[in-house]
Amino acid sequence: MLIIYSIIIVLTLTGVSFLILNNYKNTRIKNEEIRLFQTGNIVADTYKSNMEDIIFARFMVKSYGKQANARILVIDNNRKVIMDNYNSYMGKKLDNDEIKASLKGKSKSGLYEIEDKEVLQLSVPITMNTGLETKVIGVVLVSASMDSVNSDMENLKNNILKISTFGLIISLLLITIAANNMTKPLKTLTHGVEKISAGHLGYQVEGKYNGEIGLLIDSFNHMSYKLNSIEKNRKNLINNISHELKTPLTSIKTLIESLSFGDNDIEIYKEYLQDIYEESNRMEELVNYIMASIKLEDITLELKEENIGEILEETVKFITPYAEKNNVQLKIMEMEDIIVKCDKNKLKEVLLNILDNSIKYGDENKEIKEVKIFLVKEKHKGTIIVEDNGLGIPEESLNNIFDRDFRVLDGSFPSYKNIEGYGLGLSIVKNIIDKHKWSILVESELGLGSKFIINIPI
Ligand code: ADP
Repeated sequence: MLIIYSIIIVLTLTGVSFLILNNYKNTRIKNEEIRLFQTGNIVADTYKSNMEDIIFARFMVKSYGKQANARILVIDNNRKVIMDNYNSYMGKKLDNDEIKASLKGKSKSGLYEIEDKEVLQLSVPITMNTGLETKVIGVVLVSASMDSVNSDMENLKNNILKISTFGLIISLLLITIAANNMTKPLKTLTHGVEKISAGHLGYQVEGKYNGEIGLLIDSFNHMSYKLNSIEKNRKNLINNISHELKTPLTSIKTLIESLSFGDNDIEIYKEYLQDIYEESNRMEELVNYIMASIKLEDITLELKEENIGEILEETVKFITPYAEKNNVQLKIMEMEDIIVKCDKNKLKEVLLNILDNSIKYGDENKEIKEVKIFLVKEKHKGTIIVEDNGLGIPEESLNNIFDRDFRVLDGSFPSYKNIEGYGLGLSIVKNIIDKHKWSILVESELGLGSKFIINIPI
């Protein structure tokens, strides 16, 4: 990654440097051209005004040449050099594009490479106005080496190289820091995933991160917490089921052992066999319940127009003996006739589970243990409310109680310890309610009681 970034930065810097240098050179040469044209024009004028005093004119050409740091030739219209500030071309005949153009009355310039050196050469016509016409009487040819431009360019190039190298180092440093900042949370997350795969369910990635990565880490932590609680509940479920199965199994074993030894009356055999039958029934019920919960997702509803009030009353009647056995008073506070399409048996299952819990999780410390039942009819909805004054549910568990295998079994709530259950009832309830496209919610306060509310659109 760093190599790719470096290549991008180097290419960009090279491109920008090339543009800057090119621009600089063009501007400098243009300026040189203007300067030399001015000198050429001045020389042409000086020559014209001092044609009679050729010695003075030569002196002036030499001094202009020195000032402009250029070679200046004055050539007559036969292309013969009549003045040269370096003297060596005096009397020679010269011919080049610039001279040809200026003899036709035009100024011209060109950049040439002579022996690895760049030379700017330009020409200016010397004209004479005779009154009738303008005549070209000669040419001023100025040439100057572009060495100073090139050495300035070389300096600029070196400076740009230094700045670019510095810039590259700083950018790579910043990129490395930024990349590290970006990859650090990902590395921490990868470590977390490895921990989970190694079986450390519940592992939490520490630290606060912003943006999408922060959300991802929050979701990961939530997932890990959930997995851990599912695993805990799974273990509890297996523990409970094993315990539940062990008791009848031990009874059956003991009963059979007792029958195998000794001579017993047929009546004793019958009595023991009856006990064995009852214990097997208990086991069968348990297994059926587990099977039903495993097939939870597959349930299909048999919908018919039903009176919710009647179903609720029937269910309350059915569970009343169990409530009385547990000293819980079931009180129907409000009852209406609400006719809607629903699966009667499934709704009974829902109500039984909720009522069973409100009795089961009653608070022994309360003088009166009670469960109030309401069926309220409004314009577009019916509401079933089951409100108990039992143990209540800790706030942090409220979001999970409809999860499969979830039980409030935290050691800080010892009152729950001896209450049997598998953490399946409410997940069955939720599933059935969802299938009806109704909704269920719970309000609860530890020590005060719980309120289950089912909303039925009508
Ligand atoms: P369980 O078989 O454990 O009762 P449920 O799915 O029916 O399983 O309930 C899940 C958990 O919700 C229970 O273990 C219990 O901690 C809590 N709970 C449900 N109903 C009540 C209630 N009325 N009062 C207090 N706690 C409740």
